[in-house]
Amino acid sequence: MRKAGSGNSKLKLSVPGHEASIGKFLTQSGTFKDGNLLVNKDGLRIVSHSEEGGPPLIKPLDNQLSLADLDAIKVVGTGTGGIVQLVRHKWTNQFFALKVIQMNIQEDIRKQIAQELRISLSTQCPFVVLCYQCFYDNGVISIVLEYMDGGSLADFLKDVKTIPEPYLAAICNQASVLNGLIYLHHEKHIIHRDLKPSNILINHSGEVKISDFGVSGIIASSSGQRDTFTGTYNYMSPERITGQKHGYISDIWSLGLVMLECATGQFPYPPHDSFYELLEEVVEQPPPFAPSDQFSVEFTSFISECLQKNPTDRKSAQVLLKHPFLSMYDDLKVDLASYFTSAGSPLATF
Ligand code: ATP
Ligand code: MG
Repeated sequence: MRKAGSGNSKLKLSVPGHEASIGKFLTQSGTFKDGNLLVNKDGLRIVSHSEEGGPPLIKPLDNQLSLADLDAIKVVGTGTGGIVQLVRHKWTNQFFALKVIQMNIQEDIRKQIAQELRISLSTQCPFVVLCYQCFYDNGVISIVLEYMDGGSLADFLKDVKTIPEPYLAAICNQASVLNGLIYLHHEKHIIHRDLKPSNILINHSGEVKISDFGVSGIIASSSGQRDTFTGTYNYMSPERITGQKHGYISDIWSLGLVMLECATGQFPYPPHDSFYELLEEVVEQPPPFAPSDQFSVEFTSFISECLQKNPTDRKSAQVLLKHPFLSMYDDLKVDLASYFTSAGSPLATF
């Protein structure tokens, strides 16, 4: 009989030296990784590898998505409530936009926000920026979003100054902001509430997607700091800015102002110093319009269908989709991808 262990006399137990340190297994986020095994405070995860050999890509609502696994690359934008960073997921190398909102939010508003985030997470449509996950910790809301490498229409407009009609038609139709609104309004039954150039995002493939529905609007209207949020109030319909009941159709007013601003290069109302000055303009003055000596009859008509002060006179997104303006440049076969990549500042911020 062999003595126990005699056949394994070469087997030695050793403690890893400093060089082969624990860092080899432990990521910055405190996750142990060895082959397809990941262990962290949330438990054990076996990652089945994708065909390329890497871990499978993160999908919206992935419960394994953890903030600690997101490496910050750079800040890509700043909003009223906080910053937006380009981040990369450690395991999958996917890029995301991480929006961090730090605000003193009361309990009832928090509930509303949670409700809106629930909707955002269930919203999956090619015309709406995907929301992958959100976290709430110690007064900070972190939202992991699809990264749009061209930034917002507001950013793009700063570079190009104005957007010619054929591209605007393509943005509404082919790209398609109107379909995004139809999806939100008629499939999800939600009002965007904060449609403005900075909430319409673009990418190098020529896609245009709506972002930030619900949440920013709620924070703005509940914060009591109206003048801090003029960015959001600027695009509010007359019925909404005066605090009346408002519906999906109030987003169409905002769309009209956005399109007009993109066409002329200027926000359609005169500069104002306070929320009340703007409110007075919106309520008292006739609605803004596209000057007929500079724009096509179709575009001026499209804008006027959106900018009706009385909400019952305004057209829905579905009706607007058939407006002649949207198809009048079809023959030009507009290529938004090359327009966004060549006309704006270089895309892909990494
Ligand atoms: P406000 O806070 O007044 O609503 P905002 O919409 O500009 O303004 P944020 O939504 O925080 O504020 O976004 C700030 C900026 O970050 C945007 O203007 C845009 O340039 C950039 N950004 C936001 N979301 C994304 C995203 N998903 N991908 C790429 N860039 C983004
Ligand atoms: Mg935004």
